[in-house]
Formats: sequence, C-alpha cells, structure tokens
Amino acid sequence: MNYIIDLNIIFDYYNIQRRELFPDSVEVIEELLKNDKYNIYISSSSIDNLEFTKAQELKKTFGFASKIVLKEFIEDILSKFKIAKTPSYIDIDFEDIEDSQVIASAKAINAKVITRDKGMLKKYSNISITPKDFLETIDNKKAIDFANLKKQYFMYQPELEEEMDKVLNNSSYIMGSAVKDLEENLQTFTNAKHAITCSSGTDALLLAMMALDIKPDDEIITTPFTFIATAETIAFLGAKPVFVDIDEKTYNIDASKIEAKITKKTKAIMPVSLYGQPADMDAIQKIADKHNLKVIVDGAQSFGSTFNGKTDSNLGDISTTSFFPAKPLGCFGDGGAVFTNSDDLATKMKSLRVHGQSKRYHHQYIGMGGRMDTIQCAIVDVKLKYYEKDLALRQEVASKYIQALKDKDLVLPFVDKRATSAFAQYSIRVQNRNDVQAKLKEHQIPTAVHYPMPLHLQECFKYLGYKKGDFPVSELVSEEIMSLPMNPYVSDDEIRYIAEHI
Ligand SMILES: *Cc1c(COP(=O)(O)O)cnc(C)c1O
Repeated sequence: MNYIIDLNIIFDYYNIQRRELFPDSVEVIEELLKNDKYNIYISSSSIDNLEFTKAQELKKTFGFASKIVLKEFIEDILSKFKIAKTPSYIDIDFEDIEDSQVIASAKAINAKVITRDKGMLKKYSNISITPKDFLETIDNKKAIDFANLKKQYFMYQPELEEEMDKVLNNSSYIMGSAVKDLEENLQTFTNAKHAITCSSGTDALLLAMMALDIKPDDEIITTPFTFIATAETIAFLGAKPVFVDIDEKTYNIDASKIEAKITKKTKAIMPVSLYGQPADMDAIQKIADKHNLKVIVDGAQSFGSTFNGKTDSNLGDISTTSFFPAKPLGCFGDGGAVFTNSDDLATKMKSLRVHGQSKRYHHQYIGMGGRMDTIQCAIVDVKLKYYEKDLALRQEVASKYIQALKDKDLVLPFVDKRATSAFAQYSIRVQNRNDVQAKLKEHQIPTAVHYPMPLHLQECFKYLGYKKGDFPVSELVSEEIMSLPMNPYVSDDEIRYIAEHI
C-alpha cells in the first residue's frame, strides 16, 4: 500500500508544538515507517516548499535560517520518505497547482494522499484521506506477501526509474545497450563464458534445443515433476519427452533411473533445478558422457545456485534461466537467458534468437523472434547488482524456516551437500494439504502448490501413453507438496507467525 504524505502532516511530525496539537499526524507517520507493508512517499513537488516553509519557521524563531539546519532537515526527510515524481500526464488545476501536482504523483503510483488540507480533501475525496481516516483503516491482521515484488520495487525504485527512463528516451527498445550490459554482467556473475538474453525461460529452452539440433523423434530424458514448459518445449519441437521419476529428497530427477531409459533415439538429458537446487549433476554428466548425450539444464528457478562450487549457469552443455517476475531474479514481464561455455553454441543461439540470421536479412537457420526487450534487460541489470544479497537473504529465510518448523510433523526441503539453492520456493510436504492450506489462509498466510499434477498425467501428454502409477514418487510428492511465502524480506515475526499456524 502506497501513501503520499502532504506537507502539513510532515510539519506536524517535525515541529515540537505541532506534534502536541496534531498527535494523529505523528501516529500516522510512525505507523507507516514501522510497518513494512506500507510504502511511504512525498511528492517531488513538495520538496522546495518544505525547505521554504522550514526556512520561514527558522527565521521566525532565530531571526535567520541556517543552511546546515535546512540541509539536515531535508536529508532527514529523504531518509524516511521516497520521492514520488510528478508525471507528465498531470491535470493542472489552476486554483491550486501544488495540490494538483501532489494528486498527479499519487495517481501515478496508485497512492492515497494523507493530508489535513480541507480544500484537497474536498476536491479529491477519492484520493485524499485524513490522518484519522488512515488510523481507522489500519488492520492489524498480518497480510503476508508471498513473493513481495512490491517491496522489491519500492527498494530499488529510484534506480529502476532512472534506467527505464534512459531506455525510453533513447527509443532503443530492441537490442539497445542495456542488453549487452546485462549480458556482460550475467557472464561476470555466473562465470559462464557466454550469457545470451532471450524472450523467456520457455524460449531459452527452445533456443538450447534448436542449437543442439533436436529434431522430431529425438528423445529427451527429463522429470515429470516440473513446470509444463520443460517438457512442452521438447514436444513443441516434435521430439519426445521421456520421463524419469524424481528423488524423494531433492524432488529432482533421480539420476540412478536415467540409464534404463536411454535408447538409440536419446539425444539429451534435461534436468531441472527445482525450487532453486541443481540436480545431481555429477551423476548426470557421467551418464551423458558415457552415452554421448547432451545436457540442458532448465535453471528457470535456480539462477545463482551452485553445484560443486560452480554456478548453475555453468552446468551441462547449455543452461537456461527465466526472468519471469516471480523467479528469484525477475524482470517486469517476460525474459530469460541461455548460458554456455561453447563458442559455437553461443554463436548459433545468438543467430537463432534473431530468426536464424547470419547478417541482416540473410538467414542461415530456421530461428525465432526470441530477443529480450531492452527495458527488461535494464531492469534485470539493476536488480542483478543486489542479487548476491537477495540470494543470501533467501537462504537466511530458509534456515529460519528450518529452525521454526523442525519439530513439526512435516518434510522440510533437503539441500544436497554439494549444492546451494536459490530458494525460488520454500516447499514443504504435509499429508493433509487441503486442511493446512485452508487453515493458513484463515490467518492471511498465502500458500501455493508447485505442482499439483505431474506432467505424465497431463491431458496434453496423453499421447505419450503414461498412466497413474508410472512415477510413484512424483505422484506422491505432487499430492503433499506446498510452498510457503518465500522472498528476501520474510521477517522473523512472519516466520514465527507462520510456524504458529501450521
Ligand atoms: C518458469 C519456468 C519455466 C518457464 O519460464 P518462463 O520465463 O515463464 O517462460 C521453465 N521451466 C521451469 C522449471 C520454470 O519454473
């Protein structure tokens, strides 16, 4: 929830006499500052007026206005409140231009204005509220956010706005400089020799398989316990997904069952790093080497995770990821990337991403329109700067969950000693999932199920001829699995509260 604080309330808060006269204003600001679920702003149009009014006040008391005091005053405000810009689509009201600026800022960020200004309250009654209105609407129920994308946007908003503005002002919407910048920074972050952005995690899988010449009737071995895109893209290319059941602890493909499924038609193995943790890549790579198969890692959920100290993006022949908003590193729409240490595969994937072209209007391959928008690259590039920290916070949240939940009758996530997880999800297993989810919902705790039906039982894969009972571990886990709120900002209080109600 977003709030813009009008000038009069700010002065109530900062002025000793006014604090006594308007205790509601003080309470409002204290409440907004202490509670994470609120984003608190001042309008950019208020800043110079704040300084001017403060200077008048100082002159009245001391006969002059100290520049140092004024600077400290504004700095303190900027440390507590974010600036909401005046948008270009402002509807100027000539009776009170400043009010119309504040209102325009509020509309742009979907905020309410908290004010005591009677004129504003009357004229903009749907957008402005009094401190008392606000205090009356506070609900003390904990509304816990599952992925908390809003909070992340609020934290990085100034930088994100700046970078988005740059793209818009350059009009370099496709393959602008932010694309190359991001690709370089992704290479540095992952240590992969090549990082190539693309239009989504789904298209990343397509690019990888097209680069490896996957053709109709080829077989690719993968897991049935994953998001549909993993196997859907295999089938989309006319190849055949061949499922292998999962390991009961990691929920990743059970490497010990792969070899039995290899045939003359098998071309590749596609492990998925489910919930953020790589599969047993030692065993998988060994099998691939022995049988001369390619390995494509579906790392849509696991950017930044590691196996034997290598990042997930360095595993297999090609590793992919997704920047879908709810993934650990997300953009504001669709986006993805492929990673490889092979120069040839990198060159081919770059070509496939732009319709297989070798040079403009000359097409070497049948490719696709698979580029990631410049603006999405600019967004990911900002977030990537903080990703190391975000990842550490996710891992910290995960260990706090373990502490809080370890004595309960639940199966908690298991991370292999050789791996680290990006904790895209924190997924536990319970036998009475419906009841547990309903109970948590009553207490405003959101949960999700990733995934309620394994892929071999999906209607679209009926033609593959699988039936219930073919992959008992996947089937059991899909009945018991349940994800709890997971993002870098889940607080200790929230974890305690969640644990209390499970
Ligand atoms: C999200 C996801 C994808 C697809 O990524 P998009 O960017 O949404 O296309 C593929 N595989 C797995 C395992 C995923 O979780």
